[in-house]
Amino acid sequence: MPSRVSIVNISEDIDTAVRKAVELAGGLELDSGERILIKPNMSCGKQSGSGLVTNVDVVAAVVRLVREHCKQANVLVADLPICGWDPEETYRVIGIREAVEKAGGTFVDLAKTEMVRVKLPRASKLTKVTLAKLALEVDGIIDVPVIKTHFMTGHTGAIKNLKGLTRQDQRTRMHVLGLHEPVVDLFEHLLPQVRYCIVDGTVAADAVRPSGPYQGPTAGTPVELNVILAGRDPVAVDATIARLMGFKPEKLSILKIASERELGELDDIEIVGDAAETFKRLRGSRRGGLISRLQALWTSRVFNRITHGLVRRWFGSEIVTRKTAKKEMDDDTGEGVIEVTDACNGCGLCVKACKLGNITLQEGKPLINMDHCVRCWICCEACPEAALLIRSKMIRSVDY
Ligand code: SF4
Ligand code: SF4
Repeated sequence: MPSRVSIVNISEDIDTAVRKAVELAGGLELDSGERILIKPNMSCGKQSGSGLVTNVDVVAAVVRLVREHCKQANVLVADLPICGWDPEETYRVIGIREAVEKAGGTFVDLAKTEMVRVKLPRASKLTKVTLAKLALEVDGIIDVPVIKTHFMTGHTGAIKNLKGLTRQDQRTRMHVLGLHEPVVDLFEHLLPQVRYCIVDGTVAADAVRPSGPYQGPTAGTPVELNVILAGRDPVAVDATIARLMGFKPEKLSILKIASERELGELDDIEIVGDAAETFKRLRGSRRGGLISRLQALWTSRVFNRITHGLVRRWFGSEIVTRKTAKKEMDDDTGEGVIEVTDACNGCGLCVKACKLGNITLQEGKPLINMDHCVRCWICCEACPEAALLIRSKMIRSVDY
């Protein structure tokens, strides 16, 4: 039987769209008195509605929906930001605590709760991890990611969103271990807990530029999508997000690994909802086709040098031609280098994020010791200004 995923346009209000999306995808099944953990993306202290964190109005709508379905349910909302970001400050900037409490839920600062070290018996890389005990104790998790691109994984959706339940310092380990396999290891362990995925598609953040270099996921261009997605199968939900964004799911490592481990459906997916047709039209339309052909053209080897001036105007002066990028990549050791750009404001978050102590602030700018760097890229992920750019042969442009 195919996995069902709904895509619904937000034509009235967010509450109506969330309710409709969940009903179309099979409805919520909750028992009286259950403890449900809603897990949004609160990865960085950026404004709700930026596409970089889950929109608080979507989180509040999910809280209200759970309470409607089960008045006795104990509805908790929790997440931990990327290491380097202060949890309390992150929650304050997003405004999540007030939104959750107003909707009738309880916001939990995971940094102040008990963490447990657990073995992941089926893991291929991440054999042990320290994560919030709460995630294992609740009766179910409702995964509420936002749609955004990511410089290492292509996109970040329901599967990767669960990483926010680990202690902040564990993110560095997951990056060092290669990120893709560890993310799936964690997902496989938590999968029995995941009851539902409800995706914030109000605004997506696009941080992957057409001709590099690559930015972290704490900055990006907001793209208005105005949709809500829902489904019970996180792999099918993420595959649908991928297709919606123009990726081929089988080319994204996390989805490929999750599918190979038979953790969900990559292809056998029934898409329902009023936005399902829009989605098909977007993919199949002449306009959609033309845009992707134009993108392919301006980043193509032949035309890139000619179109470069235009690309720089649209995407910023740090964009280099493919020829230059290739030369820079060939000139380095092959392991990659991190470049500090003028966007750096000297906030020092990258210093806190690097657990190996490779970064120091010198005259207000980070100095990175690449000799001892293990290329985990967590500093680039943590930087709120996307000021750390990666030049590496290891990071490929995502395959649209
Ligand atoms: S690169 Fe600059 S702006 Fe980015 S985290 Fe480091 S100090 Fe802050
Ligand atoms: S400096 Fe190197 S080791 Fe430190 S966080 Fe950045 S990429 Fe990782």
